[in-house]
Amino acid sequence: MDFQPTVQQDLLRKAVRQFAEDEIAPLVNEMEINDDTPLDLVGKMGDQGFLGVAIPAEYGGTGMGHLARMIMIEEVGRISAGIAMALQVMQMGAGMVVDLGSAAQKAKYSPLLAQGKILVAPAITESSGGSDLEGLSTRAVDEGEYYSLTGRKVFITNSHISELAVIIAKNEGGAKRDFSAFLIENGTEGFRRGRMERKIGFHGCITGELIMENCRIPKENLFGDKGRGLAIALRGINDYGRMGMAGIALGLMQASLEASVKFARERILYGKPISNLAPIQFKIAEIYADLEASRFLAYNAAWLIDQKKKSDTQVSSAKFFSTEAALQCTRKAMDIYGAYGCMKDYPLERYCRDAQLLVPADGTNDIMRIIAGRNLAVKK
Ligand SMILES: Cc1cc2nc3c(=O)[nH]c(=O)nc-3n(C[C@H](O)[C@H](O)[C@H](O)COP(=O)(O)OP(=O)(O)OC[C@H]3O[C@@H](n4cnc5c(N)ncnc54)[C@H](O)[C@@H]3O)c2cc1C
Repeated sequence: MDFQPTVQQDLLRKAVRQFAEDEIAPLVNEMEINDDTPLDLVGKMGDQGFLGVAIPAEYGGTGMGHLARMIMIEEVGRISAGIAMALQVMQMGAGMVVDLGSAAQKAKYSPLLAQGKILVAPAITESSGGSDLEGLSTRAVDEGEYYSLTGRKVFITNSHISELAVIIAKNEGGAKRDFSAFLIENGTEGFRRGRMERKIGFHGCITGELIMENCRIPKENLFGDKGRGLAIALRGINDYGRMGMAGIALGLMQASLEASVKFARERILYGKPISNLAPIQFKIAEIYADLEASRFLAYNAAWLIDQKKKSDTQVSSAKFFSTEAALQCTRKAMDIYGAYGCMKDYPLERYCRDAQLLVPADGTNDIMRIIAGRNLAVKK
């Protein structure tokens, strides 16, 4: 395993950093107020090939893989966790279609998805509890010529700006784990968007409901094999969703480290910069160590996905470790700023709010520990 970035990955990091500083940073304050995803920005990210970074060239992407995707999310997350969240779910929806869709679905949607011309929202969670996948109550009835879906999905990222959704539903009359996945196009009869949530952070990223009421879905829109719905959901969440959370955590920690060093050098107390005080240096050292440890876990997990190796222990560990590290690092950075850290003029309080959202999203950290712990401890 070699974590030395390739020339290509180095160039990608530089290009994304430049893009994030030039195109995203000027929008952050406005997004904090209006909490909307700037569609112009989505178009620009699509034109730059951001959405297709992990999609093979034959499907319209750049084929750079999951480690490159991690670097991209980290760099966007360094400037805006909200846009990084919106972007990582766009990549997840597109990636799921390419990885798991039928040949016809790939041919129809992939080039558009890779360029961000259309977006897919993966929709699994319901109010019955995201951790309890078997408790999902959206029902799919096989009506012979079509499927009829009824149910309500909650907390869906990009719900109100996506043209497609991948919906996980229970096959009516099937066994306990008999779920299927379905592709639904916006405008399908019986399919509509519900309420939009007001979150503590990730501003610039829309989260809302998708509602199906006797929604008629053509048979060719079955996504993957019938009865494979839970496996499809878990594959998408593992390879894309949880890795996305780790990537945003890295971005928030990198931003916290840079902000802490800058402030500590500029803030004068007792006639000297506070960077000379040992407790300030300790906090900065701890943020650095947490960031580097998280980076190692996350890059290793992304590398395993690129190698098409089993990765759920590493992905789950990277997700809970890095997101909890981000909670602590953003808090430490805020402490270094003293009262200034609590003021809206500085980004520190935003980093703390954004870090908290990483904990439940794409599987809570308790669930991550259960997956990793069970894999490691229980004899097969
Ligand atoms: C910002 C954001 C974006 C999201 N985007 C999407 C999206 O695009 N698509 C989508 O489908 N979902 C999305 N979600 C939903 C997310 O996947 C769920 O929040 C997550 O799965 C947890 O579900 P829950 O919030 O219902 O918590 P619950 O499952 O209700 O959990 C509540 C508590 O119980 C604990 N718990 C649950 N089960 C166990 C257990 N077996 N043992 C011990 N403790 C347990 C949990 O750790 C947690 O502390 C998003 C969530 C957020 C916050």
